[in-house]
Amino acid sequence: AQGGPPGVGFPSPWGVGGHGWDEAYEKARDFVGKLTLVEKVNLTTGTGWMTDRCIGMTGSVPRLGFRGFCLEDGPLGVRYTDGNSAFPAGINVAATWSRDLMRRRGVAMGEEFRGKGIDVQLGPVAGPLGRVPAGGRNWEGFSPDPYLTGVGMAETVQGIQSAGVIACAKHYILNEQEHYRGSVDVTIDDRTMHELYLWPFADAVRAGVGSVMCSYNKIGGEYSCDNEWTTNYLLKNELNFQGFVMSDWNAQHTDARSALAGLDMTMPGDGARGYYTSFWGGSLTELVLRGEVPQWRLDDMVVRIMAAYYKVNTGKFATRPEINFSAWMSPNQTVGPLYFKANSTITEVNKHVNVQADHAELIREIGAKSIVLLKNVNQTLPLVKPGSIAVIGEDAQDIPGGPNACEDRRCNNGTLAMGYGSATANFPYLISPIMAIRKQAEADNTSLVNIESNWDLDAARQAASKAEVALVFANANSGEGFITIDGNNGDRNNLTLWNGGDDLIRAVAGANPNTVVVLHTVGPVILDYAKAHPNITAILWAGLPGQESGSSLADVLYGRVNPQGRSPFTWGRSAADYGAQLMYKAPPPSSSPPAQNFSEGVFIDYRYFQRAHIGPVYEFGFGLSYTRFRYANLTVETTHEPPPPYGPGGGVMTPAAPTFGEIDKAAAANMQPEGFRPVKPYVYPWINGPLDPRRPNVSQPTTTTNGSAQPILPAGGAPGGNPGLYDVLYTLNFFVTNEGKVAGTDIPQLYVQLGGDENPWGVLRGFDEVSLEPGETKPVTFNLTRRDVSNWDTEKQDWVINGHEKFVFVGYSSTAIALNSSLPALK
Ligand code: BGC
Repeated sequence: AQGGPPGVGFPSPWGVGGHGWDEAYEKARDFVGKLTLVEKVNLTTGTGWMTDRCIGMTGSVPRLGFRGFCLEDGPLGVRYTDGNSAFPAGINVAATWSRDLMRRRGVAMGEEFRGKGIDVQLGPVAGPLGRVPAGGRNWEGFSPDPYLTGVGMAETVQGIQSAGVIACAKHYILNEQEHYRGSVDVTIDDRTMHELYLWPFADAVRAGVGSVMCSYNKIGGEYSCDNEWTTNYLLKNELNFQGFVMSDWNAQHTDARSALAGLDMTMPGDGARGYYTSFWGGSLTELVLRGEVPQWRLDDMVVRIMAAYYKVNTGKFATRPEINFSAWMSPNQTVGPLYFKANSTITEVNKHVNVQADHAELIREIGAKSIVLLKNVNQTLPLVKPGSIAVIGEDAQDIPGGPNACEDRRCNNGTLAMGYGSATANFPYLISPIMAIRKQAEADNTSLVNIESNWDLDAARQAASKAEVALVFANANSGEGFITIDGNNGDRNNLTLWNGGDDLIRAVAGANPNTVVVLHTVGPVILDYAKAHPNITAILWAGLPGQESGSSLADVLYGRVNPQGRSPFTWGRSAADYGAQLMYKAPPPSSSPPAQNFSEGVFIDYRYFQRAHIGPVYEFGFGLSYTRFRYANLTVETTHEPPPPYGPGGGVMTPAAPTFGEIDKAAAANMQPEGFRPVKPYVYPWINGPLDPRRPNVSQPTTTTNGSAQPILPAGGAPGGNPGLYDVLYTLNFFVTNEGKVAGTDIPQLYVQLGGDENPWGVLRGFDEVSLEPGETKPVTFNLTRRDVSNWDTEKQDWVINGHEKFVFVGYSSTAIALNSSLPALK
């Protein structure tokens, strides 16, 4: 919008409950009303990096016996402990296109976090969304398509929280690359923000997510954790988010300003250099005493935090298990410091609680069902008791030194089953492909040769030439920018395979006319040569499958599972094919923050390929099965005549900001009590001394401390935005038939053309998972909501159905369209 982003200069919206939050709000307000100023502040502020047992820990309220919050990574399982599972990555569960598996993975992860005594699981991830395929952390999330990612977010959040653990939707927002992640200043238009990057966060909020993590980058000149537009206006007003916003680790840069811009919790809590070691802690207490941060804003922070807590810690989860691990010690250690950095209070910090239950089965199932069969000619797959097999490549092998040999998975030896960085978990074990294939070969009396190296091409050719089928493995890795592997600083330097994988594949394919390529990659790699190669008869993408990698793969190779995976991203011929580019080197001058304009707008991944008429190698949504499906008889109905009216969702005023309890302004009430023995360097909520009038106010010109009633945005009104956005306007029906000879699961997909030059050819707006016996036919229904057929109108600051004629396409993928229809115009 002209004159800067909207929403700047409005007060941070206070939580009001409603829509599934009422009971939690009641309990939270009651609790917060009992707290003193320093007790409130204590719950907003981390105790400092590595000071306690969890990756992030807030202060507590000892007087009421309330332990601080334990926050722990990450999006695919509990990080830095033992006795936990290593789940398939987000990108894999996205590739299943199964709401059921997304949900069950969330539940299982939640159970493991709960079992370790953790309050907040730092996941799932919708930022990065996947603007560029080389983005190092894309695999933590789901897909560059916002609809698929939104479903992944909602199901995962509900799964995790149903197990009594607060989920955290991160990294909010536009954190699309690792290079310069702490300084890059992103410019984006309001429409792209809504239709692409905010969309999956809206789904997370609608699903009731308890927390959101603001990201490292800047947006429109302001750091994300200082950003009134993204936090106050979009997240808390328009999306009606009722939980709390925490900073990414050291992503907070200001004290009062971040508070007024809507930040509710700072992590890890320390890291400021000034009168206080924290931007908050004692500093926030002082700001409240000085009136720079009004009491209502502090109370709102704590009410939001406690509401998220009560929302999940209810019913059978009303009491919390003890924290029974320490993130900072080697997982096989038992005794160590409770306060790690202080090296004090030596005790049994790791109880080695085994929380895996029967999750291995689910992990194996997701692993198998996320495999995308990209090529399968001459009925190469499934394998039926072949006489001989050659398994070739490092990526098939056990990891030297064990699966956890490299902390945070900071190396790439052996098979790849997760990327690197904070979004990792220790493997309880890792079934490598060679382990599982060898087992099967023994059962089948198949002779097997295993070539472990990627570099001995002669040995690879030799082995391949003698085998009935050659299975060649390769991978491509990426992760978080604090780790560099092979010169890849988090983000991938290119889209080719690692460790000579492409040369290995070419060598093997040159020697065996029945070559099967298996890929473990974090996203698309350049594959056109393999697609075209006549000797490569099958290609499988297995992504990052977690601990059961080999078993999952064998299930598909040998036909125990008929593949249902569909590619959650587009496979191009080059990085240039994708339009938007990663910024590896900031343009001069180096004095100003690196600026990045998301000028491609909504045209990323398949939307860009279609726009630019670039034929992909494999398109978004593509994946083969061992059977064939056919669609027929599409009908489209408007669900209501006329449709339910779309009025302002908010359109009313909030109550004035409430406060809870009185603040004792006496210095003594807010200073460290006499005789208290602090743990150093713990962050405490106490002021350093009586208020010093000479300490300058940090004035915050564009934020406001006004706590009077405020307007609710028309696009708002309920979690996820205006409830009218979720009215079903159209219902589509059609039939899917399994025309082949084996049972299988199909993923029919719905794409909508919204019309006009500003819109992509089609956008994903529905999918289903349909299991069919041979010859069986089932009906499928897709519901289209108002949001599904709307565009964001920047002037109106609302969703609007444009006047263009609209079309719907039902397809096997984003380009293999079987049925289509126009959408009847609404009366
Ligand atoms: C990452 C977050 C993570 C946090 C704590 C940050 O560097 O960006 O995803 O949750 O560290 O480990």
